[in-house]
Amino acid sequence: MNGTMLQGFEWDLPANGRHWRKLAFLARWLAFCGFTAIWLPPAAKGNAGINDVGYGVYDLYDLGEFNQKGTVRTKYGTAAEYAGCVQALKRMGIQPLADIVLNHRMGGDEKESFRARSCDPDNRLRAADAEEDIVCYTRFTFPGRNGRYSGFIWDHGCFTGSDWNELDPDHRLFLFEGKSWAPDVDEEKGNYDYLMGCDVDVRNPSVREELERWGMWFLEKTGVEGFRLDAVKHISAAFYRDWLQALRNRTGMELYAVGEYWNSDLGALTRYLDRTEGRIQLFDVPLHYHLAEASRSNGAFDMRNILAGTLVDTRAQHAVTFVDNHDTQPGQSLESWVDGWFKASAYGLILLRKEGYPCVFWGDLEGIPARGIGSVSELRKLLRLRLYCAYGTERDWFDDPDLIGLTRDGSPEIPGSGLAFLCTNARGGTKRMEMGRRFAGRTFICAIGDQSPVTIGRDGWGEFAVRDGGCSVYVPAAGPLVKAWRLAQDVKRILGKKRMP
Ligand code: CA
Repeated sequence: MNGTMLQGFEWDLPANGRHWRKLAFLARWLAFCGFTAIWLPPAAKGNAGINDVGYGVYDLYDLGEFNQKGTVRTKYGTAAEYAGCVQALKRMGIQPLADIVLNHRMGGDEKESFRARSCDPDNRLRAADAEEDIVCYTRFTFPGRNGRYSGFIWDHGCFTGSDWNELDPDHRLFLFEGKSWAPDVDEEKGNYDYLMGCDVDVRNPSVREELERWGMWFLEKTGVEGFRLDAVKHISAAFYRDWLQALRNRTGMELYAVGEYWNSDLGALTRYLDRTEGRIQLFDVPLHYHLAEASRSNGAFDMRNILAGTLVDTRAQHAVTFVDNHDTQPGQSLESWVDGWFKASAYGLILLRKEGYPCVFWGDLEGIPARGIGSVSELRKLLRLRLYCAYGTERDWFDDPDLIGLTRDGSPEIPGSGLAFLCTNARGGTKRMEMGRRFAGRTFICAIGDQSPVTIGRDGWGEFAVRDGGCSVYVPAAGPLVKAWRLAQDVKRILGKKRMP
């Protein structure tokens, strides 16, 4: 069966505390759609209380259970509702994945005074020679939790740096006394260990021990079965390599993991895969940028290169493909939204191909109401096509600057499987593609794209069509999926405008 991940949130969800309950309620429907894993937003209490999307993490042991940062619950609900959501997903055979944010902490409880050196924000390897006194909120005592689950107190020795010094109106970036930036991080800005808040020193042995203890606690408390790891380019690669191995050894679980390494440079991604010894998959950021560019180049993007320099084309076994996410959506820090007209083509390319583990964005499945953005209307059908038809050998025709296509020749074990897909970022037209001789004389109907049926020739080839700026998907006319669709259409026609009971 083709696995499909859902990113189960977008940035602008209402802060009504109902999201865990909503996902639990939708679990059956999401399984029916074909989702086999759901990446849940970060569960821990953030500095912004109920308005924190989860990345401004304050207390990893507070999943919506203690009165901290002005609230017991988080943006999404309570700790008990999170665990309930995880159980509901598992009952439907969906693997729940937790969003793990270990790079930084925000909203410390007490100030500390200590020595530090200022750094050039654009080249962090350039630090001032002289140390100076700084005052930072680096002591995290979590008074609202009062030692429950862990008595670990964080202080400035647990962090490498901060860009908030009470004595410095300019808020320069400081590297703390006795610390260095981790060497095995992204090389942007000289060294990209520092992202924001108090940067966690994951090379400190007591911090490593505490984060491993937390990991075991979190798995037991919540029942999640894997992870989406936040901001891995800002964290020593050796850390997650060891942290995952330790948890896998101690639990005996597979503990699937995908990391967010936000860099369009393929070399940076493959270097990270090597450093983590293949224990983590990565989101295919280069592919996202190609899809976004294709959607915004007014037809100029050369579709033959859509996969060139992508992770899925080089390290398919470690590539999680996606179209958009909570950071690329309009209004967010990495905004690079794939335009609506191209969304179905982009999803066709990640859902119908053999390579890559596709991740569907909540904002595309359900829309982003706060921004007036609707859902991708073809997406649910594409998910069904992935589930029922996208099997067998793939043949690619990425041979035209505008119009590209592929076929899947189906699996004998899955009746009605097999498909032809084509899309264009400019003019429409037709494309001859090979389905295979076993389809000779068979009719394919157009499930997406409103084109006439195609009969496969005796040589196993067919000529498929697509409209300007669109995509088409053809499937065998006699398959069970097609029969189910026809039945649904008949039911609609018979019922007319009457409401379903
Ligand atoms: Ca860091």
